[in-house]
Amino acid sequence: MNNLCVAHRGFSYKAPENTIVAIKMAMAESFVQWVEIDTQLSMDGIPVVIHDFTLNRTTNGKGLVKDYTWAQLQQLDAGSWKGRAFQGERIPSLDDVLKLSCGRLRLNIELKTKGDMYPGLEQAVMEQILYHHMENEVVLTSFDTDALRRVKELNSNFKTGLIIDARPQDLLERLKDLECSFLSIGASHLDSTLDSTLVAQGITVMAWTIDDAKGMKRLASVNSEIMICTNRPDVWGETFMDSKPSFWHWKLIKKD
Ligand code: MG
Repeated sequence: MNNLCVAHRGFSYKAPENTIVAIKMAMAESFVQWVEIDTQLSMDGIPVVIHDFTLNRTTNGKGLVKDYTWAQLQQLDAGSWKGRAFQGERIPSLDDVLKLSCGRLRLNIELKTKGDMYPGLEQAVMEQILYHHMENEVVLTSFDTDALRRVKELNSNFKTGLIIDARPQDLLERLKDLECSFLSIGASHLDSTLDSTLVAQGITVMAWTIDDAKGMKRLASVNSEIMICTNRPDVWGETFMDSKPSFWHWKLIKKD
């Protein structure tokens, strides 16, 4: 299928981002083949799935994620902020998400870190992926170039991707230097000139975050290989899934 749908933090328009229910809601749409999630470490080194460095916006806790143990993080409510229906939803561990995704979804796993904030994050994340034999089903992405370098140092077989919300002149050189084969770019920076340059270098491109049909169609017109990261898999479905049987479907039916 073209312009693959990547559900950003799960089906985050309808469900609390980066939770099991959000990922299950994304999985319920058969055309969602990819989900993007964010990872950080608990104080005791467990990879957990949450976007912000603080707990304040998406849980009933306060302060930095890294100052809490996994046991403490599990006590928090990560669903109520999105609506009463999601009360009691927890912060998942990366292990929880890998178990759920294995054999059904591919994952874009963002390493959420800055500087020396999370020593050992890359290794902990990669060990879990290897444990589930999902190394070929994931791409590890980050804004943090040091994190991307550490991944390659640990195991060069892992696919990595730079996240960027800009279009620097030396983008290709940067990707080459980081050994990235994937680029996660703010959609407004992507046009056909840039896309064809990237494709020629064998870079897989994902654009974010596009929630409207017009924006999705624009990307599709640039290149059908661009992956579309969206909070609205429902809009993606309305835009790209043909609800009526096509001419070829009818032909097949007639033949039978
Ligand atoms: Mg992210």
